Amino acid sequence: MSRTGVSRTIDLRSDTVTRPDAKMRGAMADADVGDDVLDGDPTLLELGERVAELLGVPAALWVPSGSMGNLIALLAHLDRGDAFLAPAGAHVLDAELGTPAWLAGGMPRELAHDAGPGKVSPAAVLAAAGTPGPYYTLRHTLLCLENTHMAAGGVVLTVAEVADLVAAARSRGLRVHLDGARLWHASVALGVPPAELTRGVDTVQVCLSKALGAPVGSVVAGSAEFVEEARRLRKMLGGGVRQGGVLAAAGLVALDNIPRLADDHARAARLAAGLADRGWRVNKPDTNIVLVDPPSPAALPEVLANWAQAGIAAGPMGGRIRLVTHGDLTDADIDAVLDRIQSP
Ligand SMILES: *Cc1c(COP(=O)(O)O)cnc(C)c1O
Repeated sequence: MSRTGVSRTIDLRSDTVTRPDAKMRGAMADADVGDDVLDGDPTLLELGERVAELLGVPAALWVPSGSMGNLIALLAHLDRGDAFLAPAGAHVLDAELGTPAWLAGGMPRELAHDAGPGKVSPAAVLAAAGTPGPYYTLRHTLLCLENTHMAAGGVVLTVAEVADLVAAARSRGLRVHLDGARLWHASVALGVPPAELTRGVDTVQVCLSKALGAPVGSVVAGSAEFVEEARRLRKMLGGGVRQGGVLAAAGLVALDNIPRLADDHARAARLAAGLADRGWRVNKPDTNIVLVDPPSPAALPEVLANWAQAGIAAGPMGGRIRLVTHGDLTDADIDAVLDRIQSP
């Protein structure tokens, strides 16, 4: 594609920019609905059952956003004055406006990535959790994992890595919440069912509006008792909806899109390789997130502005540039991006 032919901005800011397609809009229009606050909505119920099965847990509940799903889990797990552990850069630490602390009452403890980008070692969990002290000491009661780790560049935790971290947490009496906003990506990248990546965790949150095309919605899942409590907490937070089946129908179509994530991963790999060829320093993406170093920290805004002018929408992420592949892109879009980006 010639550079003079720049016609349409290619949006790589996030995998949330996808729009519901005709099939999804059709399913939403045709959805069977009820009043979910009063006595249940059949399509919301169906979505919860299907996600619970995919995740290998007893029950699941639709929520309007991933942030609300994480908050509900943390409200259920944490008492005031408890501390929770999470890897540095985790969404619960950096992107939820402090709600784990000021609403759920938990003292955040950030763990350094001592086992590679986005990864903490079981030894670090053991060391941070410590052992129960006298009554006046902080109690560590929860480990929050994030798979894939978004800010580190969509980094995948393997089945064995999750198992070792869960075992470390358990050995210190900690519960485990998994922020699986992009768990589907980890599952596709590893070629294992999502349920293998939730083994031993108490609760998990997954997004339907990231890469899968749903306009709204996440699911929080765990035991039947947890989901019963989660339903109360969701209402308390203003997240109870009436004819939510219209939204759940979009979620059901979104789940059908999971295998398609392999295309996003292939495109991210090609994008990263092409940028490296042009002299940019990039991560080697496990999934759909490419992180690019600006030539210098001060040059970040200028690079973003130049790319925007060339018809590429990207965003900053921890001092780097983040490019995210998603379902509204084609192979030709990746070609066009590589054509439009000059060397640093
Ligand atoms: C997007 C995201 C969430 C939830 O985001 P919402 O915008 O509230 O749906 C949670 N965790 C991670 C890692 C995310 O990327």
